[in-house]
Amino acid sequence: MGNEVRKDYLLNRYVIIASQRAKRPSDIAQAPSEASSSKNCPFCPGNEHITPPADLVYLEKNNIVIIEKDREDLRHREWLVRCFENLYPALSPHVTEVKTDSGFCVGREVYGYHEIIVESPDHLEQPSFARLKQLELMFDASLELLRRYYNDKSIEYVQIFRNYRREAGASLSHPHTQIIASSVIPSAISTEFEFARKYYKEEKRCVFCSILEDEERSPRLIYKDDKFTVIAPWASIHPYEFWIIPRRHESDILDTSASEKNSFARTLRLCLGSLTKLLGNPPYNYGFHINPKQDRKNEYYHWHLEVYPKLSIWGGFELSTGMYINITPPELAAEWLREEIKKEESTLAI
Ligand SMILES: [Zn+2]
Ligand SMILES: [Zn+2]
Ligand SMILES: [Zn+2]
Repeated sequence: MGNEVRKDYLLNRYVIIASQRAKRPSDIAQAPSEASSSKNCPFCPGNEHITPPADLVYLEKNNIVIIEKDREDLRHREWLVRCFENLYPALSPHVTEVKTDSGFCVGREVYGYHEIIVESPDHLEQPSFARLKQLELMFDASLELLRRYYNDKSIEYVQIFRNYRREAGASLSHPHTQIIASSVIPSAISTEFEFARKYYKEEKRCVFCSILEDEERSPRLIYKDDKFTVIAPWASIHPYEFWIIPRRHESDILDTSASEKNSFARTLRLCLGSLTKLLGNPPYNYGFHINPKQDRKNEYYHWHLEVYPKLSIWGGFELSTGMYINITPPELAAEWLREEIKKEESTLAI
């Protein structure tokens, strides 16, 4: 099998699928991770005073989840999930104006928020083996913060994302998700969005619904239940990249139903659990792709989660051209992940 150049479903982005260099999962398995310590961890229970006060905290009382907030003089204890402003925010609602001297380099004031969602009080409860209840609460907290940011008239886009392990950009190992709400729409999002709009104009249907129809019958299908489908995308630029896509046309992520949340938590847990076992706990990043706020409900865009295992380092070719070489064909990645998921399913109580 020779190398192939593949074009992304939407973007003008190309990847070289280099099958000849494909390795077995055991050849890329990572060394066991360094023991992570909960000593002095600012996200661990008991250290709440080190972080800013939580603006959203889930507590459990008599088996019911209660939504609360900290105050400057009161930090809630015994929490399930806790959200607060990042101590070192990438964006902030308190910006000063940006000006350049010559006027050649244009700066633009970017207004926004940067928050941390601590997903569990347990320092070691990573999503690959987390309790489904915790993953659902993490998803709920993300949507609750998203709802709040949408009420800020200056916010245009909200990115919910996660970095796992230091090699993927996580500076603290305690399980946490990050949210950045911004007054500008990032280019990768606006490009994907524009292509989806163009596809709809030409084909009269949502491109993600088309991807589902085609890929659910392809060797790139990894997993599906009645609510979500997981695929290794045709032009994956990362080895073992996978996307989790709602099976019904779901434009606004805030319309996710309770049963969909439950299914999403289970799907995420299964896929990350399988990835972790198959490749020996690799670093990864993931990010939700959702509609920009101005166009939340439409016929042509469909939210999804993109998961990027960090197994290769992009070199001069990738960085200078924006074209990629992926040495694990998505069909092989899908096959191995499918097998691992079958084993992983037995570990999950339904
Ligand atoms: Zn911790
Ligand atoms: Zn759709
Ligand atoms: Zn996307």
